[in-house]
Amino acid sequence: MAGLMTDPLPCPECGGTGQDLSVPRYVLMCMCCYGRGVVGGPDDPEENPPASPPDPPPAWEHRVWKNPVVAAALSCRYCLDARRVTRIDEVARTLVTADCPVCA
Ligand SMILES: [Zn+2]
Ligand SMILES: [Zn+2]
Repeated sequence: MAGLMTDPLPCPECGGTGQDLSVPRYVLMCMCCYGRGVVGGPDDPEENPPASPPDPPPAWEHRVWKNPVVAAALSCRYCLDARRVTRIDEVARTLVTADCPVCA
C-alpha cells in the first residue's frame, strides 16, 4: 500500500503544537491530532483503524476436536459414527440418506 499514505500535515486545530489551549489555565491534548501536532501521517489512528477480528473458524476446525477424549470417542467426524448421513437433494427436494462417504 506504499504510495497511498498521506503525508503528515500540521494539525489545523492546534497549529502543530499538539496542545488544546481552548480551556483557560489548562493544557489539554489536542483531540484532532492526538497530541502529535500533525494529522494524516501513517500513525494517524483515523487512517489506521484496528484490524477487524478474524473470521470464526469453520465447524470442521472447531476446538472440540482438539479435545483428545472427544476425538477418540468419535471415529468419524463427518457422520459422528452414525455411518449414514442425511442431506437435502436439491433436485428432488427430498431428504436423502446415504452411506457416510468418509467411513462407510
Ligand atoms: Zn492538533
Ligand atoms: Zn462417517
